[in-house]
Amino acid sequence: MAHCGNKAVRSQESMPSASKIRNTRVQPTPAKSLAYVVRESTRARHVRLRISVYDASLMVVVPEGFDRRRIPEVLEEKWSWIARTRKRIAQHREQAEPDSPGDLPQRIHLRALGEERRVEYHAEPLSHTLVVEKPDRTLVVRGNVGDTAACKRALCSWVSRKARAELVPWLLSASKEQRLPVSRVQVRGQQTRWGSCSLQKTISINRKLLFLPPPLVEQVFIHELCHTVRLDHSRRFWALVRKRAPRCQDLEEELRTAWRYLPAWMDGNGMQRGRANLTE
Ligand SMILES: [Zn+2]
Repeated sequence: MAHCGNKAVRSQESMPSASKIRNTRVQPTPAKSLAYVVRESTRARHVRLRISVYDASLMVVVPEGFDRRRIPEVLEEKWSWIARTRKRIAQHREQAEPDSPGDLPQRIHLRALGEERRVEYHAEPLSHTLVVEKPDRTLVVRGNVGDTAACKRALCSWVSRKARAELVPWLLSASKEQRLPVSRVQVRGQQTRWGSCSLQKTISINRKLLFLPPPLVEQVFIHELCHTVRLDHSRRFWALVRKRAPRCQDLEEELRTAWRYLPAWMDGNGMQRGRANLTE
């Protein structure tokens, strides 16, 4: 059983149910031409809007049996919030990484390690596109460098290798230090979680942690290590976490928006699988 870990939470907003909104008069806005997907949730009590931090796409989560003809009305009502949130996401993206989602990076900033890599692209007649690291630590993407998706895949596997080499020993030393033994550590490319822990004490960590500042990485490690003792998010679990990380509340809060550290180029490849199912 895979247990939940730290979620990469996206922007969302709760709002009163449509019955409250029905009589509100609103000016026509660009909301009319807005593209969105609708998801029905048995747990939702109100209509909620979610905006993906990856591509600013909009999801409308409605309670079971909600009359979907009312959705345009809800979007009109929330237009300014939608526009504001999208603008904020775009700004964060620019700050985090100057590349637009379709671009390949010229630099990779591994905040967790305090390291940066320059990236060069060499067109070569190879059967696979691959990444090699030169002695001066420049990354060279070799192969069909005209194929952006292939380059991104190759860079993502380099990030995975780097995560295995750097994050796994880091987690194991935290495990030793905290006296919270684990049976196995694996690196994955999860879409919605920074980490998770199984009943068998296998901790899975997200390779994207390499892009986060060190205190956030450590918080994810402590959180998951404490799950080896308790697999829930009960008060006893949080007491365990607090004992080991007195600043845990601030750090967990910061983790909720830590997606902003992720570079845009990591989006738009195979790592996105399951993104449509990102939920609360
Ligand atoms: Zn957890």
